[in-house]
Amino acid sequence: MDNITVGDYTIPCVFVQKPWIRNTYLRFEDEKLVVVSRNQGNAMRVLDKHHDWIMKHYSQIKSSVRMFSTSGMLFNGTRMPVRFTQHYGRPRVEISGDSILVLSRSNDAAERALERWLSRQTILATESVACEKACAIGKAKPSTRTRRFRKWGVCRSNNTITFNTYVCMLPAELRDYIISHEVAHLAQMNHSRRFWEVVGRLCPEYRTLRKRLKNYDSRRRPVFADPAA
Ligand SMILES: [Zn+2]
Repeated sequence: MDNITVGDYTIPCVFVQKPWIRNTYLRFEDEKLVVVSRNQGNAMRVLDKHHDWIMKHYSQIKSSVRMFSTSGMLFNGTRMPVRFTQHYGRPRVEISGDSILVLSRSNDAAERALERWLSRQTILATESVACEKACAIGKAKPSTRTRRFRKWGVCRSNNTITFNTYVCMLPAELRDYIISHEVAHLAQMNHSRRFWEVVGRLCPEYRTLRKRLKNYDSRRRPVFADPAA
């Protein structure tokens, strides 16, 4: 089983045989469909039965933008290759031409340096904008932090907004929507109609931007095309 055809799609497919299991399981590993089953017959039957599920998930995967990949990572909405250079001083990250250069001792240290750099870039990209927007709706300046989590941001009643560390990688208009959304929570700690009215005042295009943002996949994947030893 190499490829299967579902609707207009030809989907790479891997069959894993486990004769001792009763049920058949389907899952996607990136664009590859993995079928775990006791035999090929069962696998084929389950594939036939779940065409709709397979189509839906595959089309989602195809339209998603991977923010991290070995062909580069997004920064400010542009994909840039990431290069590693061995360096024994303090690790640092630089933008060099159209690529991102990470100078550090080892690959592990490079990953950590990249995380710290992204966190700093996200603070730079969000902090002052969040303060301006808060001011525009008559609220006190929030303090901003970053964290790695599944959400793009979270706003607490102690006037703190925590942004996803990777917000700086997104195009400017999507960042603007995320900041507007969190700042609007300073006025409305819920997702009521009044909340969305505040979001609309801060970011008039929020409906389309919110939809676009759903395509962005921030899952951390390897970025170094030339991994260090
Ligand atoms: Zn919210």
